[in-house]
Amino acid sequence: MSSTRAFDKVFTKIDELKPEFIGMLSKAIAIPAVSSDESLRPRVVEKAHFLADHLKKLGFADIQLKELGTQPPPVSDPNLQLPPIVLARYGNDPAKKNVLVYGHYDVQPAKLEDGWDSEPFELVVDEKKQVLRARGSSDDTGPLTGWLHVVQAHQAAGVELPVNLITCFEGMEESGSLGLEELIGAEKDKYFKGVDAVCISDNYWLGTRKPVLTYGLRGCNYYQVTIEGPGADLHSGMFGGIIAEPMIDLVQVMSTLVDSQGKILIEGVDAMVAKETEKEQELYKTIDFSVEELNAASGSETALYTKKEDILKHRWRYPSLSIHGVEGAFYSQGAKTVIPAKVIGKFSIRTVPDIDSEKLTQIVVDHCHAAFKKLNSPNRCKAELIHDGNYWVSDPFNAQFQAAAKATKDVYGVEPDYTREGGSIPITLTFEEQLKTSVLLLPMGRGDDGAHSINEKLDISNFVNGMKLMAAYLHYYAESPEK
Ligand SMILES: [Zn+2]
Repeated sequence: MSSTRAFDKVFTKIDELKPEFIGMLSKAIAIPAVSSDESLRPRVVEKAHFLADHLKKLGFADIQLKELGTQPPPVSDPNLQLPPIVLARYGNDPAKKNVLVYGHYDVQPAKLEDGWDSEPFELVVDEKKQVLRARGSSDDTGPLTGWLHVVQAHQAAGVELPVNLITCFEGMEESGSLGLEELIGAEKDKYFKGVDAVCISDNYWLGTRKPVLTYGLRGCNYYQVTIEGPGADLHSGMFGGIIAEPMIDLVQVMSTLVDSQGKILIEGVDAMVAKETEKEQELYKTIDFSVEELNAASGSETALYTKKEDILKHRWRYPSLSIHGVEGAFYSQGAKTVIPAKVIGKFSIRTVPDIDSEKLTQIVVDHCHAAFKKLNSPNRCKAELIHDGNYWVSDPFNAQFQAAAKATKDVYGVEPDYTREGGSIPITLTFEEQLKTSVLLLPMGRGDDGAHSINEKLDISNFVNGMKLMAAYLHYYAESPEK
């Protein structure tokens, strides 16, 4: 279709305007919007206003900074206000589809002393490596501003944006997205009424070479097991051997959860996992990944599987159980002879289709209590859920994904890999359920961007091609006969 290629002119403008876009990104990056640092909360709010101003300049309408009230405890300032969610719309043509784009303007903490090669909140254009280095470059300020640049490039090219665009930019993503779920619920029939599709650009390629479209995320159920007995911490010289120690009980209970090959030992979990389909198995064949990449990422040779398919399936479509720590136990250097009076073991299960969260919790709690009972200990044991977030899986062959796949071929010259992620973006499911739309995860950055780590970067080519991908996706999706 010849009209499709109207976005060629947009591509040319994206190339031309690259220096200006990098300049705008560097201004956004310079505001240290660390949502987990209460002292920096005014800066997070400042960044929301900075974005609102920019949206206004670009001609976005109905710009609203949605206040979310005070942050619930634990906080040191009980009056701490949550940063606002920035809503805005571009275009209001009833003949066009409505695409909601989500991004977050807050970032992870970063300090030069952590080992950065340069000030984390000063964008460095590293010509040698061809990367943009700064906190937020890849997660998620780069992708977020990318959407604004796409609109600007359309204007500069004199090409009409093919959809109505709605922004939902939040400032608490790195701190649990507090308030976002409620806002989506409250606005589903108001600001978000008529949204046809949601696009989230807040994850990464699997590796460093091949673009991906992401259609699934695992959920996470987090549990704790509390075992207590003595009235206070005791000395092992006086009490060792003559009282029941909570830590000894806990270690035994925890040892019944999972084995060293990663197999979950809790009965009933495996039975809930959906069977693999042939169509699904096909998707794994072309994926660019190897055990070497896993070893490089983990900095070791500790992989449980050597075959690509096994690794990816166990990361994406099978559950896993991880043991995270013990609250109340001695953990420092040296040899303290304490008997802790109360210990709390923490573990989580990454969940997948068709695990039912409530049923899983019942099985897990019953399992822990039964394992404790077998110990015949006079201590007390309580297993409970701390929080859960459900898994999400979409149809990688729907209209949105097909549009994004065509766009990928245009921009990168290859078919994208269809990936899932082992981690969670809980808001994906909220959007899908509340707005009753399909959600596409369209990553801009690469797997080695170091999103929460030191020297976070975004390759310049990913920034530029990422914007082209966003633009072409909007055009192909607009043309699609389906929603
Ligand atoms: Zn992010």
